[in-house]
Amino acid sequence: MRKQSTAPAHLLGSSKLNPPQLALSYFLLPALMRFDILTIFPDFFRGPFDYGVVPRAFREKIAEAHTHDLRAFTHDRHRTVDDRPFGGGEGMVLKPQPIFDCADSLNLAPRATRDTTRESVILLSAQGKRFTQATARRLAKLDRVVLICGRYEGVDERVSQLLCDEELSIGDYVLSGGELAAAIIVDAVVRLLPGVLGHADSSRYESFGEGDEPSTESVVTDPNEPKGTRTTNASAGLLDYPHYTRPADFRGTPIPEVLAEGDHLKIRKWRRQAQLAKTLANRPDLLLKADLSDDDREYLATLRAGEHQ
Ligand code: SAM
Repeated sequence: MRKQSTAPAHLLGSSKLNPPQLALSYFLLPALMRFDILTIFPDFFRGPFDYGVVPRAFREKIAEAHTHDLRAFTHDRHRTVDDRPFGGGEGMVLKPQPIFDCADSLNLAPRATRDTTRESVILLSAQGKRFTQATARRLAKLDRVVLICGRYEGVDERVSQLLCDEELSIGDYVLSGGELAAAIIVDAVVRLLPGVLGHADSSRYESFGEGDEPSTESVVTDPNEPKGTRTTNASAGLLDYPHYTRPADFRGTPIPEVLAEGDHLKIRKWRRQAQLAKTLANRPDLLLKADLSDDDREYLATLRAGEHQ
């Protein structure tokens, strides 16, 4: 059977530059990050990759994603990708052979050298390590990420043992396939790539963002405000603060007054406290690892004291 990769045309990064332009672009353009997705449902990704920043990143050659149909790597006329589990039990298991043959066709570096080549082969699995924003930041530094989507009862364990660098789970629940998980990982990683979000620092100031140090820009967007005055804290592992837009009064609920007063320091303090309150209410586990100041701890103590009254 002919080995083919099915990459929807709009996902492929075909270059129309001539050789001197190409050479120049090597120095001027951000590196192109490549995703390869191994799946029995390549068309699944048309929806998730057609909206928002992901297709923009593909169009602007910041990233590209190639889907590979595992059935194209089978050798029987039924294009069989699964088989019964050894030892008995429920359901079917994805066979290793189409996955290994597909991976062989991708010219990946051997596992031992993938750190240096900045490649990673990942099996999506409910049994994997938890995919977090920190994982997304780590993957965003790579040149190439290969995502293997399981189906049925899962994937023959030798795929994890011999081919993959890690297994990732997107949460403590069981999906019917790895495709949704792969789409989520591509989305979370692509939006971190330089040039994808409008604001270089955006990802620092949202939920699970990093600490406050090297900020490349001020986060004040009002042109009348003094340059360099920031109304936002880096989230440093906390959840984001609440956002409001016009109208200032909606169905009888006004925005917090401080946000309309124009005092940057006060806004910054209010936002930090709102972040702390939301994190304490919804994700207290994050507070254990968050980068907290003495003021933060004091405010949390007040909130906790209030909870116990
Ligand atoms: N028997 C497996 C178990 O209990 O862990 C579940 C298999 S699940 C029905 C089929 C496929 O969906 C998995 O091989 C994996 O690729 C994907 N999957 C399911 N849950 C996932 C999760 N939380 N994160 C990432 N992938 C998941």
